[in-house]
Amino acid sequence: SSSTPLTVKQKGTVDYSSTATTFALFFVFFIALSFLIKRSASIANKTLGFGKTKARINSLDDSEVRFEDVAGISEATEEVKEVVDFLTSPERLIKLGAKTPKGILLIGPPGTGKTLLAKAIAGEAGVPFFSISASEFVELFVGVGASRVRDLFKKAKQKSPCIIFIDEIDAVGRQRGAGIGGGNDEREQTLNQLLTEMDGFVDNSGVILLAATNRADVLDSALLRPGRFDRRILIGLPDRKGRAEILSVHARSRPLDESVCLNDWALRTPGFSGADLENLINESAILTARENKLSVTNSEIEKALERITIGLQSSQLQDISKKRLVAYHEIGHALVAMSTPLADKVDKVTILPRSNGIGGFTRFSPNEEVVDSGLASKAYLYTKLVVSLGGRAAEIIVYGNEEVTQGASGDIETVGKIARDMVTTFGFSKLGPQSLDSSNSEIFLGKDFLRQKNEYSEEMTKSIDHEVRKLATSAMSEAIKKLEKNRELMDCMVSELLDKETLNSEDLQAIMENYNK
Ligand code: ADP
Ligand code: MG
Ligand code: ZN
Repeated sequence: SSSTPLTVKQKGTVDYSSTATTFALFFVFFIALSFLIKRSASIANKTLGFGKTKARINSLDDSEVRFEDVAGISEATEEVKEVVDFLTSPERLIKLGAKTPKGILLIGPPGTGKTLLAKAIAGEAGVPFFSISASEFVELFVGVGASRVRDLFKKAKQKSPCIIFIDEIDAVGRQRGAGIGGGNDEREQTLNQLLTEMDGFVDNSGVILLAATNRADVLDSALLRPGRFDRRILIGLPDRKGRAEILSVHARSRPLDESVCLNDWALRTPGFSGADLENLINESAILTARENKLSVTNSEIEKALERITIGLQSSQLQDISKKRLVAYHEIGHALVAMSTPLADKVDKVTILPRSNGIGGFTRFSPNEEVVDSGLASKAYLYTKLVVSLGGRAAEIIVYGNEEVTQGASGDIETVGKIARDMVTTFGFSKLGPQSLDSSNSEIFLGKDFLRQKNEYSEEMTKSIDHEVRKLATSAMSEAIKKLEKNRELMDCMVSELLDKETLNSEDLQAIMENYNK
């Protein structure tokens, strides 16, 4: 009898706990379920409620940007000034029989100021600016993009005169019928709608369509036909003078120290776009603020440039033997350059590693003449090959053929590129002045897929490879020769570099003079 209450009690407890567990499970399940339902509902809302999403058309009633904010691309700026006349005093031009340009296509690499220029036109003319990125036209559902285009043009016509700006137009304007597996219906419909709207423009309706792209080569030919985007404005990367102007535009709002010469910085930033230059100035201002200084000096710009081009400085290498190898590699570059009159001047050598995995680097100050003219001679390019292989050459001399490291992979890539260009593009080899380049035009999947390769015979491919190899190996042996001749000097420089971790051009020069005494 004593066992009965016990079992009852036992049974009872078991029951309670299992109910609690069940409840808990239900509860968790319920929460998870309601979360899922909520989420899928919001997804459905997003996709199904497309009719309501109109907010993506950005309209800007008074753009603050003026032509004076757009620097370094004066040719393009001159060309679009005419558009401002059309927007501000159309009567005068119409009386003269001039027709409004319908579509203007701005073509250029990213960050060169296409969007900025479009805004400046609107700002100068004082007209509303409607902008949309073409990638926003491309949606999940067929027909949405087309209706957005309609919507955009309707809105714009109500506000005429005004500017419609379609950014990254290649997202919808790609050649139709291209691509493996047929076209994208949605994209085609959107493009068709765009073409229809452009044709529907009555002349002189006061709406000017601007578009920007960095891939004009993939645009559908219907878009480029006369009467559509009939005016094309090329915007290239700024030259040295342009870079100086862009830098000074962005330096206007920042306190620059008197010692800063923006011309020098323009020289040291070949290949930078307007956006890159703005970033450089901005980074230097941030560094200045962090150091509690009042004005931006050369040292902050220097640090910012290094950070942008090479990466942040990271913690030191601990392993002394690795450090020594990096030092030999970098001094290899520097010494080869210093003993070759045609080479760029060495600016700085360091074995302080960077956060992106670079163990050390040698920096050169670019050759002013070559940067300015854009004309590099065969001898200059060959010297570049020799200097680029200086790092690997030093490793071979000091550590032997078997101990070389992958640290030179970046150098070898550079060498491959320059050597191939020398043979196939510049006609600097015994294959003669032929253009053998096919890598320039990117393969456009589908259309050019099969056509692209083999523009020249198999034999020619072999001879190109042969010539490229010849250039690289002869540059390599020249680098080795130069370093072997200066082995002691190299050791001197390495021990100094290991000691100080960074050597600038004067330090290197001093070591060399000391040694020659
Ligand atoms: P894109 O549209 O060609 O990719 P953006 O016009 O968006 O480039 O440029 C991005 C930023 O870079 C601009 O907001 C501006 O601050 C700066 N920038 C680019 N080009 C120039 C230029 N030519 N002059 C002054 N600033 C420029
Ligand atoms: Mg842009
Ligand atoms: Zn190297």
